[in-house]
Amino acid sequence: MAKLKLHQLAKKFNMDSKELVDKLRKSGEDVPSFHSTFDEEKARQILFKEKSESPHSPKLEKKESKDKEKKSLEKLKIPEGIVVKDYAQLVGKPPNEIIKRLIELGELLTINQSMSPEAITILSESLGYEAEIVSPFQERILEEEESEVAPRPPVVTIMGHVDHGKTTLLDAIRKTDVALKEFGGITQHIGAYQVEHHGKRITFIDTPGHEAFTAMRARGAKITDIAVLVVAADDGVMPQTIEAIDHARAAQVPIIVAINKIDKPDANPEKVKQQLTEHGLVPEEWGGDTVFVSISAKERTNLEELLEMILLVAEFQELKAPYKTRPRGVVIESKLDKGRGPVVTVLVERGVLKVGTPIVVGLTYGKIRAMIDDKGANVEKAFPAQPVELLGLSAVPEAGSEFFAVSDEKEARKIAEERALKKRLIQEIRRKHFTLEQLYQKVEEGELSELKLIIKGDTHGSIEAIKDALTKLDQTKVKINIIHTGVGGISETDVMLGAASDAVVIGFNVRPDQNAKVLAKKENIDLRTYRVIYQLIEDIQVAMKGLLAPEFEEVELGHLEVRATFKVSKIGQVAGCYVSSGKVANDAQARVIRDGNIIFEGKIASLRRFKEDVREVKAGLECGLRIENFQDFKEGDEIEIFKVVEKKVT
Ligand code: GDP
Repeated sequence: MAKLKLHQLAKKFNMDSKELVDKLRKSGEDVPSFHSTFDEEKARQILFKEKSESPHSPKLEKKESKDKEKKSLEKLKIPEGIVVKDYAQLVGKPPNEIIKRLIELGELLTINQSMSPEAITILSESLGYEAEIVSPFQERILEEEESEVAPRPPVVTIMGHVDHGKTTLLDAIRKTDVALKEFGGITQHIGAYQVEHHGKRITFIDTPGHEAFTAMRARGAKITDIAVLVVAADDGVMPQTIEAIDHARAAQVPIIVAINKIDKPDANPEKVKQQLTEHGLVPEEWGGDTVFVSISAKERTNLEELLEMILLVAEFQELKAPYKTRPRGVVIESKLDKGRGPVVTVLVERGVLKVGTPIVVGLTYGKIRAMIDDKGANVEKAFPAQPVELLGLSAVPEAGSEFFAVSDEKEARKIAEERALKKRLIQEIRRKHFTLEQLYQKVEEGELSELKLIIKGDTHGSIEAIKDALTKLDQTKVKINIIHTGVGGISETDVMLGAASDAVVIGFNVRPDQNAKVLAKKENIDLRTYRVIYQLIEDIQVAMKGLLAPEFEEVELGHLEVRATFKVSKIGQVAGCYVSSGKVANDAQARVIRDGNIIFEGKIASLRRFKEDVREVKAGLECGLRIENFQDFKEGDEIEIFKVVEKKVT
């Protein structure tokens, strides 16, 4: 029976490592850490109850039973990646209904988001169609060729706290390269490089830090196979060390710990090991399964061993890529060079990229004019996991964009133009949502005749009072249509509903959660919160008359979590907080939120770090906070930090 590391299992089952560990522990299994191994078949049984079921079985089962009826269904060609709105039009249903049905299937999508092939198939069947998903780019052909795979080098990212030696290590490793010595030690910084160790290659991403790592991931590019966590032996585990661990785990990338600066007299590698154990990274010598290597990047001690360990972990991952397939990969860096035009560093993920190949890169395209490797040499070919700089594109693509080869330049151009058009369309649809300020104008232009509202409040009573007051407003020109009300904070689903129906979302004495905020911003949904009914009604009244022009607006600075509370004599209650996003400034205002309800709003009275008053504290750090006239912090409270600024006239 095959034992696999938990993160590999999680990947196999297409779930989060944490979720997997939680589920296993819940059913009484002994799972000491995220890095433990576990029997695959047993995990499958626990997770999916019956032996033979696969992770997606509930959906698949549905599909299989429907397969039998397929013959009677009407055939329908549906473009790959169709957005909900277009799909709704195609099947002749209102978008709201499609969104509702998708939610039932467990897919939360807004009107402008792409549907997965699975969702298209199942939903179409339930509507009486047999969906044939057609790929606009015929990328299907290349999926078929994928069977022939061969080993490829691992791609490594170096992470860790600032000043712990990431850059020094990247430079030192580069200098170990045999091939580089043959080249006379000339290096080219192109965003990534490869070294050879005992005849095997390793690719390093040349931007240290987890921000770059996560930014890539946010754009959908998962390129790192192994994370090397650098921890200075004289400094120990610091906030960014912990962040790096969290980021690597979220991406399900195995971690190798490099304890650096062991040449320093005050180096204490044992202490670092102890500290990391508390974060689930247990060295093998202590019965765990995390690889630790003690190094000095500066004196180049033990670098060989580190490289060896990287190759060992890589071997365990059995990294493979198809070579005989249409080349694909990701943009790592891009810039516009005066003489050479767009210069783009790409990492080939599959296939062999050759000079002269027409390619599509994000929204741009071109024919590869030349390729230069990390040693500055012109190369004709680039293999999987190899970084190269390429020339010949028509514009500069964004870092994180995907590229793939196509048969001719004309096709490349066509695909790139279609993609650009699609992006513009999506942006236009997004812009169509309106804000209260635009209401009157839209009505005048005949684009709108009613104002749709979603109202969330702290109690039924307050919602009734608001509804009552709204019905008393003059509605001859604009009709008010309250499409949804509810008690509780504003959730992502409320905003989705707002997006799907072009409504304004209003919160009375409640706040949006983080997901709701992010979505509202992305979908351009007007989301307003009030604490006084009169103000809410007045805003709507003047908006209907076209007079709404607020001069001030709230700018969110950051978000805190209360982790502990203290009583300090004469001063009062202090909240020990963790800054989970953005920052907190001592001249800002704070809003205390408990279970989605606003408990208090007021000015920050003091902000401290390690007993010292400070101006501001950034995300990832802890601080002590007091709010004027407030003594009722509870552990688990959330605090929103904001400033009220004059609104820019656009
Ligand atoms: P980064 O911010 O993590 O990229 O850290 P740097 O690579 O810039 O290194 C920060 C400082 O630590 C620099 O002054 C380096 O010279 C020093 N440093 C890095 N590695 C070592 C080491 O192994 N030993 C000693 N003594 N100093 C080191």
